[in-house]
Amino acid sequence: MRVLFYFIILIIINIIILNFSLYPVLFIDFDSSTMSCFTTKFADELIANAAYIGTPGKGILAADESTGTIGKRLASINVENVESNRRALRELLFTTPGALPCLSGVILFEETLYQKSSNGTPFVEMLKSAGVLPGIKVDKGTVELAGTNGETTTQGLDGLGERCKKYYEAGARFAKWRAVLKIGLNEPSELAIHENAYGLARYAVICQENGLVPIVEPEILVDGSHDIHKCAAVTERVLAACYKALSDHHVLLEGTLLKPNMVTPGSESAKVAPEVIAEHTVRALQRTVPAAVPAIVFLSGGQSEEEATRNLNAMNQLKTKKPWFLSFSFGRALQQSTLKTWGGKEENVKKAQEAFLVRCKANSEATLGAYKGDAKLGEGAAESLHVKDYKY
Ligand code: 13P
Repeated sequence: MRVLFYFIILIIINIIILNFSLYPVLFIDFDSSTMSCFTTKFADELIANAAYIGTPGKGILAADESTGTIGKRLASINVENVESNRRALRELLFTTPGALPCLSGVILFEETLYQKSSNGTPFVEMLKSAGVLPGIKVDKGTVELAGTNGETTTQGLDGLGERCKKYYEAGARFAKWRAVLKIGLNEPSELAIHENAYGLARYAVICQENGLVPIVEPEILVDGSHDIHKCAAVTERVLAACYKALSDHHVLLEGTLLKPNMVTPGSESAKVAPEVIAEHTVRALQRTVPAAVPAIVFLSGGQSEEEATRNLNAMNQLKTKKPWFLSFSFGRALQQSTLKTWGGKEENVKKAQEAFLVRCKANSEATLGAYKGDAKLGEGAAESLHVKDYKY
């Protein structure tokens, strides 16, 4: 009898202990404020689309220049910045024979999302039927952060949910938001890093609530005389802050893409070899970007077409840990020789398309580390595309 009594007491004590030890687990399970990511009906679709954009051999064409920015490009070839000319350039790109198989996504500006080709096919349909996901630039550009040395924050959060919903209905499946940071004696400041990281995170979660895969783009400008080590250190600080903010905002990382700068010396410093850029860039990413992110798609940031391709290729040749697919989301470095060859003239379209195909193929090969450096260089393909304090 006494043994049975002790046995029951022991069981009661055990239950109490067990409950206490389970308490933190129960707490974590039921307190949504500690959930790592939010739930959305689009979760599976976001994950599938982000993974699709990261298909080996494919990358993104950034053709989302705002009306002002495309105006500067067109001015450089003496073409007027009117709707018909902007449409003609985009049509030239999207109808290039053999180019779309090298692409998994194209980022569009709002105007282009609703435009049609000259034969009446909506651009969105043209892209989708070729297996290319349409994307959309959703930020509204940068404004200066008062009290800083010309640092900026990106605008566009007001009404963003509504716009994303509308863009999803129009066929967009991913989005882009460009935050800009600069390297200086005291820059980037903590304020600029924090403000831009939380802006990107807020944008990312709003996109995901509305079915768009967010491209998180914290671009550190190449402007300056700093060396590659400085760029690496700043890139690590900025990316670490971004992933902290994305985590705080419960963003589903598997349904996102990162669009960073490559780690390079500043524009006023001597250049280094692609292998050196590859080593510094991949190391900065290893230290800061979670393996849950499916793909990293680089911006070209003023590098020449050929330089950007060689650098991407070197990263994909590097033998080290790379849990994400490394690809491209180039704007200038995919379009420069095409633009120059076209010159706004109908009779040059075919030649311009050949130039575009050369860059698409070279970059597709670079995503596999298989670019031999043998692309036929078009007009301006080796030319630096750097513009100080570049606005997109
Ligand atoms: P660049 O490749 O021209 O730097 O632009 C890519 C882009 O989309 C910047 O937001």
